Parts: sequence; structure tokens; C-alpha cells
Amino acid sequence: MRPRPTPCSSRLPLVAVSLMLVVATSLAARSASLAASAQAVAAAARPTPSDVDAERLLQDLRTLASPDMDGRLTGSPGSHRARAFLLERFKELQLQPLNGSYQQKFSFTQTRGGSAVAFPDAVNLIGMIPGTAEKDRFILVSAHFDHLGVRNGILYPGADDNASGVVTLLAAARHFRANPPRHPMLFAALDSEEDGLRGARALVDSRLIERRGTAMNINLDMVSKNDRRELYAAGTSFAPWLRPILEDVQTRSAVKLLFGHDRPSPPAATEDWTHESDHGPFHDAGIAWVYFGVEDHPDYHRPTDTSGRVNAAFFGDAADTIIEALRAIDGAVD
Ligand SMILES: [Zn+2]
Repeated sequence: MRPRPTPCSSRLPLVAVSLMLVVATSLAARSASLAASAQAVAAAARPTPSDVDAERLLQDLRTLASPDMDGRLTGSPGSHRARAFLLERFKELQLQPLNGSYQQKFSFTQTRGGSAVAFPDAVNLIGMIPGTAEKDRFILVSAHFDHLGVRNGILYPGADDNASGVVTLLAAARHFRANPPRHPMLFAALDSEEDGLRGARALVDSRLIERRGTAMNINLDMVSKNDRRELYAAGTSFAPWLRPILEDVQTRSAVKLLFGHDRPSPPAATEDWTHESDHGPFHDAGIAWVYFGVEDHPDYHRPTDTSGRVNAAFFGDAADTIIEALRAIDGAVD
């Protein structure tokens, strides 16, 4: 996660799929009503603790970060194996495909070392759980599954970045399969984040989702280790109505849930993460977002980002906190 994004100069070729989720209400009016209903529900609802299977979470992380996945570089054989693993999980969880497919294919060209490199085989994987009370307004949970691959013969396993976010997304899907959400929930395992948020851009620019129907993007990227047990929920400075909802989650979280890293002009000591992971394109499209992630650590973008260096206890608690936040947001937004 958190590359320095490179400018995306052209629109990407996309599959022509069209799940049109249309609402007529303007974004501005929607924000106002969101704020009102958010406060009301935050005061009334006390979600019970969630139920992440920490061992399964860790086992899935070990699978995605194993040498067999070759660091999950977009289009590589290892990426194909990661996709196959995730598609198997999507089927097992009985997620609904959009327009008959879990896959959104796209391609792009990236300049590396002064020459253009084509990536013709990038794929986002998206599955849905229907809502019990809402059909058109959906919550989109995202986590990128790509990483840096093998460079000069050295494996970059990307356990925290971002096998951790992807398997938390699977745990969230498992939770909401058993406890159906009010809003439709889309679970998007995105490709090519490390190359400039390409998968998120492809999804936002596609007709696969209707921007006005997207109530929220909840993005997960690096959630499995922090020595101080700190997990950031960034994004509330742009959507202040989210703050009381997440502060309520904060009161019963086993990790230290912090706010910040989301100001356009941050103090020198605080990095602005607004465009540092896949929530960036959603932000640019005017869609509210929350990004869950930890501070950079010494294993960030290094071969040492292995499953053995994940903090299992923190990871389980972070996943629980994220699912609690999803439950609270699903209960609060209209
Ligand atoms: Zn990442």
C-alpha cells in the first residue's frame, strides 16, 4: 500500500458491464440526511462484539503471503493463484457476482526504468451480499490483493501489505453472510494498487457500480501489526458525520483506534494518506470513505513483510474492530 501514486494519463479499457444502481437524490442532500440519521442511530445502536475466527484469518493470510503466490504481482502466475484462491472463497461464501461474473478485467501501461511496461491482465474481484432494507445504496469494502512480486530473485510476500486487508475483507464477508447487512455490501479485492491505485480507478471509472449509489468506501490496507496496537481510521475530516459513529466503536475496541492522516494540509509530522491507497479514487469521485491501516513499519515494502512477522493478537482485534465499524456504519447511513 501507500505508493506515491503516479498520474493516470488515460482512461482504462474496461469490460462493458452495467449493474446500474441508480438513485435520484443529489449527493449534497444525501450527505445532510446521512449526518442526521448517523447521529440518531449511533446513539441508539450498540452492536454486539463481532466474531472473527482469528486462526482462520491467520491461515488465509499465510496462504496469500506464501512463496507459492510469488508476491502477487499483477498478471503473474502467482497473481493467478491468488485470484483462484479468492474466487474459491467468494463461491464458498456465496457472494453474488455482478452481471454474472466476479471479475472485472482491465489493463494499463506503466513506465518503469524509462520504458513502458504493459499489464494486459489485471483483474478486480467483486462479490455482493444483498441488503435487508436497501436495494440501491451500497457499501463498498475494498482491499488490494496485488503486491510487488519477485524482484532480482527476491520474494516480496506482502503479508501485512496487503494480504492482511484482503483476508479481513473475507472475514467481514463471512460475518455479513451470517448476519445480513441493511445495505447491499460489495466486497472488492482490487488488483494493481501498487502501480498507482489502478484497480480502484478502474472500478470507479467503470459502469459496474453507480457512483451515486455508493454510500461509502471502506478500504483496508495494512491492518496486521503495530507495536503500539494502534489502528488508524482515516477519512473522517472529510466526512465529520462519521466521527461519532467511529468514536462509539472506539469505546469497545481492543485496539487503539485513532483518527487522522486525512487532512489536505497536514502538520509536518503527520503524513496525509488521502491518496495513498485505494480510497483515493473514491475520494476524487466525491464518495465518502474510511481507510483502516497502520503506520508504516520497518517491513513495509521489504522482503521481510512475511506472515511470521504479523502480530496475530493485534490482527484479530483489528479485524474485529473493522467489522464492528462496518456494522455501525451499515446501521447508521441511510
Ligand atoms: Zn498496500
